[in-house]
Amino acid sequence: MNSDDYPGNLFVVAAPSGAGKSSLVKALLELDSHPAVSISHTTRKPRGQEQQGREYHFIGEPEFRAKIAAGDFFEWAEVHGNLYGTSREAIEARIAGGQDVVLEIDWQGAVQIKKLFPHAVLIFILPPSWEELRQRLMRRGEDGAEVIEQRMVNAREEVAQARHFDFVIINALFETALFDLKTVVHSQRLKYAAQRRNKSQVFAALDLI
Ligand code: GDP
Ligand code: ADP
Ligand code: 5GP
Repeated sequence: MNSDDYPGNLFVVAAPSGAGKSSLVKALLELDSHPAVSISHTTRKPRGQEQQGREYHFIGEPEFRAKIAAGDFFEWAEVHGNLYGTSREAIEARIAGGQDVVLEIDWQGAVQIKKLFPHAVLIFILPPSWEELRQRLMRRGEDGAEVIEQRMVNAREEVAQARHFDFVIINALFETALFDLKTVVHSQRLKYAAQRRNKSQVFAALDLI
């Protein structure tokens, strides 16, 4: 299928673990009910508060490999020793139906998505410093010391990929970063094609069809 046939916006948000990606996306959705968040599949074990089907579809590795073989994923990647993937089911119908979709995925997945959907908007969230990133991972209290150290090492590689992204948001002050994220999302809705689709009556009244 030609990806240009998809009318909805596809926002891809990536960041090193702990930069604030999930908090920012969650806050965005509280302000703006339009985008749907894609729920990924993962082989990672659920954290304390996480629920099956809410943060992720938690599955075993054999099941994950079977889904890869069946072509169920738009993209998948190994991140911090676990497998993560975006299923076709999670996003295809929504974008085709004109709904905006947000993907919270790693940079490898973001690059794969951009190849499949050239209109995807890639947003990278940076922490203000390495020290602050470590503090946030510790404060979040969801991962053990070893996992945090692995995530800090991986973060250096991930941050180096920010140059492949369309937008960069520095999450120093949360409210400022949220404003920046809202601005990027809103700007896509002001594009000519989007306005013509969503404001068709105005366009028709102005003989702009
Ligand atoms: P939760 O997973 O539903 O608890 O939501 P979050 O991950 O967004 O928030 C977890 C905790 O971090 C809460 O206690 C928030 O108050 C806190 N928190 C979230 N964002 C910020 C921020 O920008 N600054 C500070 N200082 N704390 C924050
Ligand atoms: P990610 O999804 O990128 O792994 P989270 O959204 O879980 O990151 O954020 C990591 C931790 O940092 C959470 O405890 C969150 O509340 C906190 N946090 C997020 N943004 C900020 C910020 N701007 N200032 C301080 N703490 C923040
Ligand atoms: P966490 O285990 O902290 O929730 O996520 C770890 C990393 O995996 C993050 O960088 C997150 O963006 C990434 N991730 C989550 N879901 C997917 C997915 O479906 N595909 C890819 N490629 N990465 C994902």
